[in-house]
Amino acid sequence: MAADVLVIGAGVTGMKASLLLALAGRHVHLVENSSVIGGRLIRCEDIFPAMECATCMVSPMQQDVLRNDLINVVTLGDILSIEGSIGDFRIKISKRASCVDPVACIGCAECWNACPVEINNEFEENLSKRKAISVPCAGALPNVPWIDREHCLRWNGDENCSLCAEACVFAAVDYSEEDSQFEITVSDIILSTGFQPSQGEGFEKFQWGICPGVFTASEFERYYSSNGPTSGELVTKDGLKPESAAIIVHPCGTGSYSNINTMYSLKFLHYLNEKLPDIRPVVFLDASYSPDALEDRYHLSWKNVEADVVLYTQTPEVSTVSDGKSLSITCSTAEGNFSAKADLLVLGTSMLPSTGTSKFIELLGIECSDDGFATSPDPELSSVMTTVPGVFAAGCTGGPLDIASSVTEAAAAVGRVLADANRGGK
Ligand SMILES: Cc1cc2nc3c(=O)[nH]c(=O)nc-3n(C[C@H](O)[C@H](O)[C@H](O)COP(=O)(O)OP(=O)(O)OC[C@H]3O[C@@H](n4cnc5c(N)ncnc54)[C@H](O)[C@@H]3O)c2cc1C
Ligand code: SF4
Ligand code: SF4
Repeated sequence: MAADVLVIGAGVTGMKASLLLALAGRHVHLVENSSVIGGRLIRCEDIFPAMECATCMVSPMQQDVLRNDLINVVTLGDILSIEGSIGDFRIKISKRASCVDPVACIGCAECWNACPVEINNEFEENLSKRKAISVPCAGALPNVPWIDREHCLRWNGDENCSLCAEACVFAAVDYSEEDSQFEITVSDIILSTGFQPSQGEGFEKFQWGICPGVFTASEFERYYSSNGPTSGELVTKDGLKPESAAIIVHPCGTGSYSNINTMYSLKFLHYLNEKLPDIRPVVFLDASYSPDALEDRYHLSWKNVEADVVLYTQTPEVSTVSDGKSLSITCSTAEGNFSAKADLLVLGTSMLPSTGTSKFIELLGIECSDDGFATSPDPELSSVMTTVPGVFAAGCTGGPLDIASSVTEAAAAVGRVLADANRGGK
């Protein structure tokens, strides 16, 4: 019988790879660090380029993964060690206790409504609060909460708190559940640990954290989302309706520009046009990424947008105006200086390797690019290969990619795994 395969990270790439491997009859261990599957895609409302509803796209895939008998989904999972080589990798995995029985739980929310602990919700870019027992957002799958022991009162000085268990009529909360560990042997490993957006660092000079109208791209995505902190209402962080809006496309903090910046900025224009139709947004685009400079399909799309596109030759300067609520944005262009006022400003966010991607690159000794993503020894012929035989890097583990390209890479990695098995009889 063909050996098992390990897929690390259950974003769109890891889910697609797991489903394809299962289709080929391979048993898969899909290990996901968080409590839910879907990765960064489930933070989006709509998906560029077709502006498809993200939930409609991802939900059937999540259901297929969770129901597939050949896919062992391990949420709250951590890879402790990887030994061996292609055909015989030995892996130690730990699973953090969720303290909630997934069979008994129906996701009714009574437990987290009863919990008195409020902490920043990292899934919502810290724009809202979550409880010590929680799911990250409405509609998350599996729709089963977990107890975060770092913040739960029972593990922090009040062992008598049992409000969540008392609220659960299905008796699904079980404080006695312990973390567990197990070992597996697999022939190949697909890394699909993805990216994290640049966050905070270097954004202050664009008034992020100072003026309530300034958002990173990831924050803005959540503000627009119908299951986000404002249920999709586009207001500033202090709840005011903006009368003017701007986007700076190029990354404003650390990290470098990728096509994704262009893609999501175009998407945000759709968001702004739809929710704030009286506003004509101003888009600040680096002149070297102008439609005339780059003739790819995304850059050419700038020619048809409902916005004023300003091609700047020097990074825009942003300052808060006297009322503290709105911004003045100035820049130089080929025609001279330009300035605009905005109550709402979205800053370009770059894509950096996730901590998981950095961890496995280091643990396995995989070669990486200057910006820390896994590199292939043969990028022209197989972008998903790594310098370690039997380990493949798909999707955003190898650099910033859109969803279509991530899914293509998932298929490419699965193809390599199946080809390895045929060649070596594993
Ligand atoms: C603001 C923004 C908007 C975007 N909008 C679009 C769009 O409209 N259309 C489009 O095509 N693309 C868009 N993208 C890009 C899109 O998000 C990516 O293409 C997609 O998320 C890549 O999927 P992935 O599975 O490779 O990585 P991810 O989505 O990052 O998933 C990685 C998974 O691995 C898990 N993981 C990480 N570390 C570990 C670990 N140590 N152990 C186990 N699991 C781990 C994570 O929890 C996560 O579930 C956007 C990106 C940004 C930043
Ligand atoms: S643990 Fe109980 S109360 Fe909480 S969501 Fe599940 S069924 Fe509802
Ligand atoms: S035991 Fe108390 S603090 Fe802990 S999750 Fe339940 S309600 Fe919250």
